[in-house]
Amino acid sequence: MRVTRQIEQLSKSQLTEIAHPALYGLDETHLVPFEQFLLTSATATAFKNMQQQAQSDGINIQICSAYRNFERQMAIWDGKAQGKRPLLDINNIPVDSANLTDEQLVDAILCWSALPGASRHHWGTDIDVFDANNISKAELQLVTAEYIDNGPCALLAQWLVDNAARFGFYLPYQPDQSGVSPEAWHISYYPESSLFLSQYRAESLRLLLSQAEITLQSALLKQLDKLVEHYVFYVASAPKSSNKYSNNLLEKPNL
Ligand SMILES: [Zn+2]
Repeated sequence: MRVTRQIEQLSKSQLTEIAHPALYGLDETHLVPFEQFLLTSATATAFKNMQQQAQSDGINIQICSAYRNFERQMAIWDGKAQGKRPLLDINNIPVDSANLTDEQLVDAILCWSALPGASRHHWGTDIDVFDANNISKAELQLVTAEYIDNGPCALLAQWLVDNAARFGFYLPYQPDQSGVSPEAWHISYYPESSLFLSQYRAESLRLLLSQAEITLQSALLKQLDKLVEHYVFYVASAPKSSNKYSNNLLEKPNL
């Protein structure tokens, strides 16, 4: 198991209280390399199948972001909380954090960034995609305008709505169906991610964040249950998985 700096700070007895470290971005031994990314092997296989079908429909689905570990998510969080990274509102307008209380700053960051330990990108089942026929990864900003109307990824977005479920993928972040803002680019391999979500525990995240040296720690811990409810559990419902997907992933010792 590759350990992060944060985890090294946890005592052994505390670590054993986190039943499935992989759900919080603390373990990547269940993942396999795919291009320059890490995914669960079932997600990688399903994605490859979907990519081939899309290709024959004239759409070049490529990944721009996949697995991120706890430490990486915390660097993003700290950067925004400390004003070192731009903070944008729901309309992508820069927010001046100077006049915000800690609680308001937490909410502002969570508009576009996940709480460390609470990102679906920790799981290896969730990926951000774009249409490489129409835009390069370097140009891509991952904003809604790119995925609607005549945007470069609009065809891809519609193709996903029509076809993704056949390959085991769906969009967890949709208007009025999720605490996280709608993200037409974020897809999830639901046969596994639904299982992961059912095993996710706010108490494990509390243990982790109370040990990490994270900016805005006390504001986070004060409202953690509410945040987990809103940003982790409040997602669009996944299609039902067929029995062929009911493997024993969570029984693996490291997960
Ligand atoms: Zn995403």
